[in-house]
Amino acid sequence: MPARDVADLSRDIQYLKGVGPARARLLGKLGLHTVADLLFYFPRRYEDRSQLKAMALVRDGEISTVQGKVVEVSEVKPRPGLIVTRVAISDGSGTAFGIWFNQSFIKDRFRLGQAVVFNGRIERRYGQVQINKPEYEDLDDDSLHTGRIVPIYPLTEGLFQRQFRALMKGVVEGYASFLGEVLPEEIRQRLAFSGLSQAVRDMHFPRDLQAQEAARRRLAFEELFYLQLGLARLKRQAVEEEGTAHRSDGPWLKALVESLPFSLTEAQKRVIGEIRQDMESPRPMNRLIQGDVGSGKTVVAAWALVKAAESGFQAALMAPTEILAEQHFLNLKGLLSPLGITVGFLTGSLGRAERIRRLETIRSGELKIVVGTQALIQEGVEFARLSLVVTDEQHRFGVQQRALLRAKGYSPDVLVMTATPIPRTLSMTLYGDLDVSILDEMPPGRGPVETYWRRASARKKAYRFLHDQVKAGRQGYVVCPLIEESERLQAEAATDLAIRLRSEFPDLRIGLLHGRMRTEEKEETMEAFRQGHLGVLVSTTVIEVGVDVPNATVMVVEGANRFGLAQLHQLRGRVGRGREKSYCILLAEGLTEEGRRRLEVMQETGDGFAIAEEDLKLRGPGEFFGTRQHGLPDLRVADPIRDLPLLDLARQEAFRLIERDPNLTSPEHRAIRERVGRLFQGQGGLISVS
Ligand code: ADP
Ligand code: MG
Repeated sequence: MPARDVADLSRDIQYLKGVGPARARLLGKLGLHTVADLLFYFPRRYEDRSQLKAMALVRDGEISTVQGKVVEVSEVKPRPGLIVTRVAISDGSGTAFGIWFNQSFIKDRFRLGQAVVFNGRIERRYGQVQINKPEYEDLDDDSLHTGRIVPIYPLTEGLFQRQFRALMKGVVEGYASFLGEVLPEEIRQRLAFSGLSQAVRDMHFPRDLQAQEAARRRLAFEELFYLQLGLARLKRQAVEEEGTAHRSDGPWLKALVESLPFSLTEAQKRVIGEIRQDMESPRPMNRLIQGDVGSGKTVVAAWALVKAAESGFQAALMAPTEILAEQHFLNLKGLLSPLGITVGFLTGSLGRAERIRRLETIRSGELKIVVGTQALIQEGVEFARLSLVVTDEQHRFGVQQRALLRAKGYSPDVLVMTATPIPRTLSMTLYGDLDVSILDEMPPGRGPVETYWRRASARKKAYRFLHDQVKAGRQGYVVCPLIEESERLQAEAATDLAIRLRSEFPDLRIGLLHGRMRTEEKEETMEAFRQGHLGVLVSTTVIEVGVDVPNATVMVVEGANRFGLAQLHQLRGRVGRGREKSYCILLAEGLTEEGRRRLEVMQETGDGFAIAEEDLKLRGPGEFFGTRQHGLPDLRVADPIRDLPLLDLARQEAFRLIERDPNLTSPEHRAIRERVGRLFQGQGGLISVS
């Protein structure tokens, strides 16, 4: 009776035995509402309490499990306010005392002669074995908390391992067998995976650690399989769509390349070649360009934009923030105006009349290249013939956005640029549906940015250095400590710092940039810095991406320990963009082990990929994956680094299945189709299953 099984699994846990409204609320905090939620809420780790030890053999300081019969239960009150409960058990080889303080109720849990198990840290005192506050359990119930591999769950305040474990035990026994299998039988057989019910049981209450690992592998595979299925479908959809075939290169592109004050790097040429091929083909381009900070992505983007314009179409470039959009606009204007190609900027801060006029030039097709924020395609902007969308630092151009454009009658080529170096191990998981181009070569003449981390006691010296560089004609950034919780506090900190520095260095012109400033103020400040009217820019992380002022050669980062590695790398990328030698001084105090390691890595290398790999090692893939920038669902069981072989396997199987049944419409794949749809739900509608 499948209908009843489903109903059972979606049952509200409030009505389970021993839960009730209060605990249900606590469980709700963990995202646990139904029986199915519980079944898939897996332990954080396991403790092996399966090895029972004879009391004579247990050693001081070890965590051990002992069993025996209760030979004494006593309670003493050595002083007011202190109650000590002692329960002695004996196994023939010795006696072990469980000790509890001010937990008088404990004594009622034990009676003489009862067979019990204790688990905890052994203290050997005066020849006696003592365990402070042991986990305990009757030997004749089936040993849930001791004498086995014990699951330890990630819990919240007010929930306790013992209770939760007991609840889970009941749920696993009562419901796991009703779990419906989604993974095709044929794949399961071929890869020798256990059934879903068994895997879930073994994740919670494994016989031994091998059984747990086998279960984990099966569930990790399944998770990666659905993820890759989603990506495979995306890739497939893109292939089937009809796009624009752009013309072969004409005089505009030739003029663009000839007008550059430098020659393209080999990497830039190669990537442009890849884009050319995509753009000239009628199939919509879906390409990601990965290039470290400063590798010269802007020129590549400009090339693509001009190609679209030259073919008689329109192109849009979108950036995540106004500052960055404006930066791109200015860069492109500088590159393209001399060639007679007009570039327009559409921003939220345009006046009404001006906005209406701008929208009209876009709608009429007069404006060929438009730069703006994401709002460019979201709001009521209409293009005459849009054939290319370039996005910067938005790792995924979602299906939803594509659908939006398609509804307006466009099926543009899409080019996504990112400076976030994704370790190669991860990029397959994240970008399995995209074609990837890598700009793996820096423009010539770039020395590494000399990087030092110093204690706050060296601050004076650091600022003296900044001062001298500015006096010598360079410019510099000062980055304020990160205050993540509050943009207001962060803005205040930046303001204070600017005021302090202005009074300390009255001979320098010091500007201020933070997220709470009005757009025009920000623009004015950036422009003044770009023009060299300001020597120093005190800023929050709003300068993190994209800002390109080649004359800036020094960066001082205050409270550098508060930033993550990726962020420090991005920040540092603001200097070292011109011919002059550049410096980055990281001021940090009170370092944790990990914090110290981060700063060391920054000192050692400027290679974005190396830094990303280190970052991944330090933070773990959970957090890396959890950033959501990538727009993919979270992984709960799989670890894309450790499970790389499994990922390969999942990818092969997924692409093979999509080959056979592109839309997963055959009846035996219905459950898979639903699962993939649900997995990608709420991720910007990456996949539609309607
Ligand atoms: P990013 O990849 O970080 O966006 P940019 O496109 O802003 O990098 O380029 C960084 C700087 O390098 C810019 O000042 C740009 O003019 C310059 N640049 C780009 N390509 C080359 C090249 N082939 N040779 C020399 N300089 C280049
Ligand atoms: Mg850039």
